[in-house]
Order: sequence, then structure tokens, then C-alpha cells
Amino acid sequence: MTRPPEIKKQVSSGGVIFRSSEDGVDVALIEVRGGKTWCLPKGLIDKNEDPPAAALREVREESGLKGKILDKIGHISYWYFIDKNRTKVHKTVHFFLLKYVEGSTDDHDHEVDESRWFPIDEAIETLAYKSEKEIMRKAKSMIEGLSSAQ
Ligand code: ATP
Repeated sequence: MTRPPEIKKQVSSGGVIFRSSEDGVDVALIEVRGGKTWCLPKGLIDKNEDPPAAALREVREESGLKGKILDKIGHISYWYFIDKNRTKVHKTVHFFLLKYVEGSTDDHDHEVDESRWFPIDEAIETLAYKSEKEIMRKAKSMIEGLSSAQ
């Protein structure tokens, strides 16, 4: 008889980091898994760290960019298998909106294949996962709200 998979929970945190460009707004994405998948920078929350602190650290490490948190965007969740399908992971990822402060995409983590600025609409197209596209759409309307308030 095959045993049912064990269930494990993981919580990560990440962000949409943005800056103004001549044509509008640019956001940073990272390319992972051998250059096949464009995603938002994110990672597991460390012990003694809260979700905003983890988002700042992960965005900095993975994209090479330092930002300042403006707001929470929302969270996503998904399932995946590890340990030759013996463990099923339920993952939750919290996402924050970050305004770019300093740094270069050249300084991305070595575990990331590339880090690059994209115009925000192109980023929505490029992101691999539906749930991250949805986070980016929400970030876009939050950023538009910020500019109209100024
Ligand atoms: P973290 O960056 O949080 O440390 P990780 O790089 O270890 O995480 P994930 O990015 O969560 O791992 O990827 C684990 C599995 O989940 C992979 O098979 C990946 O393709 C899939 N995955 C990642 N993000 C999503 C998503 N938004 N929706 C569905 N599946 C996803």
C-alpha cells in the first residue's frame, strides 16, 4: 500500500520593487531554474524575522536592489511535492510593494540566473505564474493610486 504524502507548511516573503522610468514604471524580475522561469524575488522567512523584513532581505539578495516598503500587496498559495513525491508542501508567499532606493541588478544572488528591470506591462506578460501576474496587476493599480495622490 502506498502511504499518503506528509504535509509540510512553508511561508515565504517577497516583493514588487519599482522605479519611475521615462515611459512609466519599471519593476524588477528574476530568472530562475536554468533561465526558464521569470518570477518575483522571494524566499523563506527566517526565524526571528517578520514578513516585511524577509521581503526586504530577499529582494535585496535575489534582485541586487534595495527598496523601501510602502505597503502590503497580498499573499498567494500553492502546493508542490518534494522527497520523490513523499511530502506535499503547502506554500504561502506574502508580497510587499517596495520603492527602489539603490543598487544594481548586476549584484543579484548567484542562485539567480538573471535580474532585470521590465516595463510593468511587459513584466505582467513575462511572469511565469498566474498568481504572480495577479500580484503584479494589483501592484500596478497601487502604484497608479500613489501617482494620482501626488
Ligand atoms: P523560495 O524562493 O520561497 O525559497 P523555492 O525557490 O525553494 O522557494 P518555489 O519557488 O516555491 O521554491 O518553487 C517550488 C515549486 O513550486 C517549483 O516546482 C515551482 O515551479 C513551483 N512554484 C513556484 N511558484 C509558484 C506559483 N506562484 N504557483 C504555482 N507553482 C509555483
